[in-house]
Amino acid sequence: MMNRSLQTTVLADNHLEVKKYAEKSGTGKRYGALALVCLLLWYPALTNARTIARVEPIRIECPVGTVPRLPYLIWVTYADGKSEYRQTRWSNAALATEQAQANPAIHPIGLEYTINGFIIGDNTTPNGYPITASVKVVADPYPTPSPEPVAQTVPLNKVTINGDNRLTSNRDRATAAIVEWDVAQQLYNYRDTYGMSTEGYPVADGWDSPTTKLKGHGSGHYMSALAMAFAGATNPEQKNTLRSNMTRMVNELRECQEKTFVRHPTEDRYWEARDFAPEAELREMLGTWDDFDVHKTKWETYGYGYLNAIPAHHPALIEMYRAYNNVNWVWAPYYSIHKQLSGLIDIATYIDDPVIAAKALLIAKDMGLWIWNRLHYRTFAGVELIDSPQAERRANPGNRYEMWNIYIAGEDGGTGESLARLSEMVTDPVEKERLLEASTFFNSPAFYDPLSKNIDDIRTRHANQHIPKITSVLRSFRGVNDPDYYNMAENFWTMIQGRYRYSPGGVGNGEMFRQPYTQITSMTTNVTTDRQQNRNPMTTLNETCCTYNLAKLTKDLNCFNPDDARYMDYYERALYNQLVGSLAQDWYGTTYQYAVGINATKPWGISGEQPGNATPQSTCCGGTGSENHVKYQEATYFVSDNTLWVALYMPTTLVWDAQNVTIRQDCLWPAERSTIQLTHGEANFAIKLRVPYWATDGFDVKLNGTPVASSYQPGSYVTIPARNWTTDDVVDITMPFSKYIDYGPDKMETAATGQNEANTPFIPMWAGTIMYGPLAMTATGITNWNEATINVDSHLEDIVLNRPSGGTTGPNGNLYTLTHGDKVFQPDYYRSANTTHYFRINMTDDADVEANTSIAGQVTKDALSELLDIAKQYKAAQDAWNALENKVPEHPPWAPHGFARLMEQFNLAQRVHGNEDKNYTQTEVNMAASNLNVAINTIRPGNLPELEDLDELLALLRKVKAVTSPASELTEAIAYAEMVAEYVGDGSGTHDMIETAVARIKAIK
Ligand SMILES: [Zn+2]
Repeated sequence: MMNRSLQTTVLADNHLEVKKYAEKSGTGKRYGALALVCLLLWYPALTNARTIARVEPIRIECPVGTVPRLPYLIWVTYADGKSEYRQTRWSNAALATEQAQANPAIHPIGLEYTINGFIIGDNTTPNGYPITASVKVVADPYPTPSPEPVAQTVPLNKVTINGDNRLTSNRDRATAAIVEWDVAQQLYNYRDTYGMSTEGYPVADGWDSPTTKLKGHGSGHYMSALAMAFAGATNPEQKNTLRSNMTRMVNELRECQEKTFVRHPTEDRYWEARDFAPEAELREMLGTWDDFDVHKTKWETYGYGYLNAIPAHHPALIEMYRAYNNVNWVWAPYYSIHKQLSGLIDIATYIDDPVIAAKALLIAKDMGLWIWNRLHYRTFAGVELIDSPQAERRANPGNRYEMWNIYIAGEDGGTGESLARLSEMVTDPVEKERLLEASTFFNSPAFYDPLSKNIDDIRTRHANQHIPKITSVLRSFRGVNDPDYYNMAENFWTMIQGRYRYSPGGVGNGEMFRQPYTQITSMTTNVTTDRQQNRNPMTTLNETCCTYNLAKLTKDLNCFNPDDARYMDYYERALYNQLVGSLAQDWYGTTYQYAVGINATKPWGISGEQPGNATPQSTCCGGTGSENHVKYQEATYFVSDNTLWVALYMPTTLVWDAQNVTIRQDCLWPAERSTIQLTHGEANFAIKLRVPYWATDGFDVKLNGTPVASSYQPGSYVTIPARNWTTDDVVDITMPFSKYIDYGPDKMETAATGQNEANTPFIPMWAGTIMYGPLAMTATGITNWNEATINVDSHLEDIVLNRPSGGTTGPNGNLYTLTHGDKVFQPDYYRSANTTHYFRINMTDDADVEANTSIAGQVTKDALSELLDIAKQYKAAQDAWNALENKVPEHPPWAPHGFARLMEQFNLAQRVHGNEDKNYTQTEVNMAASNLNVAINTIRPGNLPELEDLDELLALLRKVKAVTSPASELTEAIAYAEMVAEYVGDGSGTHDMIETAVARIKAIK
């Protein structure tokens, strides 16, 4: 049973607390329409506040059958003449509304309609500054770019980051770590899987340990990290070690793979992927480690070309829709396959030994064709079977529509992307075609179909399971040329920007997407459980893998539309904040979940031990983390035949082989000035320079001393037309950082504030991150949301810039610092512990419109109605599942404890909405909405355990912790149990893990 005090506080109490808070804070509020109108009319004359005077009109032609693509940023001009981008929140985010907009029967060609929205962080009304988009439904689809990208990135080994700065110190520390990792340990699992002696090969550990079914993911990232570090390394000794480790990996992996080259006993061909586990055997196949051990001795049955650190048993089990469960079934079979394919492709791309490069490509190609063979012969796409009874589905193994939609087990890491890349790299036309086809075998209609209509089906999904599926579909687009493939990627990316992104660039709460436009609610109501079963606020948000994958997707999208600065504006945010900040400053350790919120400490290790994610196999984020810091330069420049895009301002040297020139960009990092000059060669080409969205004041580009334009539009590229460049030409870029606030889309009105205080109400207030140019600025020494409330004037003049400290060189050189009163703001990349990213923003000179007051005495219930609709949908889905005789799917849509909390708030909210007991005030309506919103946002999908499900395990942990000098078995069982508790906290734990953890401790007692 849940501790009563954890449940959302009842309405009446909340109301009282709000009132008390209001009295304490002493903010007198105006009531009534007249006062408000007078205030707005006279406002500019009365104060010096920055008020919105003009907003660019929003007119959208929307292809029939789709949800309009609404801008997440719009250009506004203030009464004082200043202009900048502001963030929007649109009112059509409810799933039912989107489905109606994408329905041609309801929204036919020729129909014109409007969608209301708001500029967030503005106090003109309680919801922001009202805006409207005019939509016209048209017959024509969106124009699709050519599948041949307009621009390409420059290979990693052609761009070098220069100087002594945070970028180079991170890179050098990462390179040194990669050089140190033991190549023999990375080969252990392969020897074990292919029946070879493991003597002299240290046992793999972390998530590649012998009892972890994700094994191989770390070796894959290890190969990528070797290749990327090699591409950027200049030290000959390091280069030699990296090269020799790549060579050894490739040679020994090929040796393993060749063991699968076995003739079929009766057919005139090799034993192939399709021959492994005939259907009758597959149906009976079990998934314990003992079962895996049997297959470990039968490598000759894996099928021609199978290369993986785990037997072919693993990917076969997913064809029977087996669940994510490391002990009894699978983890994510194709996830680890993807990392290994990717690693081999990266070695083929970057090693300077053509023999090893060819061999790496060969291994990847043979494994790619194994995937084609397996999925071509043994799987099918049958969307109609998804709703059939479980027995019937299991009688039809291999339905890909279902396979990829299984929680975590269906996570493929972006296998489609690697297969599409392989298809581009091989020459044989049949192989090319098969690899491209194999990339489309990872299509997931359950996820793709809504997205192709721009319906937000991201909500409540596992974040990192789905982001790479979009990278895959965009890569397949190059070969398949289906406009839907491109549209899905564009729609997904745009949804992320407005509806899910946090200020340092990441997404996700734990490992999950929550509801759209609820970043603040989602962040402030996040709790975890301690050993005493108390709930405590938790700041582990934004899994680092997600940002790694979003950066990759952004870079790939930019290749198709390199003139659209939105992409690299976002890439810059993700790189300069979360990615650079995800490596510890003084040792090699990377973050799993990033830390975002209040008083947040970057969790360098998953169990708190140092040095945390220190190897590619330690966790998934240890894996992507091993690549992140040796590829900062990957998207600095984009090129076409005759154009160079300068996408990022970083101290770099670019060798542009096609033009036979070397170009040097001199600047600090981060940079407010940069100089670009050829240091070798002469050539004729155009240069396009990004004008960052934040460069609203003083931006200028001078070519040989003369400005190239009279004005510059932030969020665009400025072009220097094609000309003959020589080493005498100098391009100077000036881009003073501006101060602005990156707001969360929903006001902060409730928070988990302390032990078992899961839902403390606050006066609704906008919350945001102080930004300085591209940098998310953060403060320390703040422990509660009252301290995290700042009073600022609308010009942000109260926030004062100090000159950058730390000198110009060194890892902490050019360190920007802002101060506001006694608070010191420094970039998030620099912070490690006790950091606050979001502040409640009280505009001291703003129109004094209070969110809790009603206009003209009318109580508005729009927000409450919208939330009630969502709750009704949740309830209907749960009721429908409960009524099923055959439970298909196996789990209910929503987990029981969260669903019970939702129903409690739903019933309260319905009473409020219908004024069933009395006439509720606006404050009470708002509180009901807030509580319902929290319940909606903290509910978990039915397959996931909830914090309550940890009760037995935590009680056991308390007991065994009292044991003095425990045996090593017990120490291990405790460590496992603590890991499981963490996984359950962030959404990646399962019921089976909890059972195993309990059983392990009990077995020792
Ligand atoms: Zn991860």
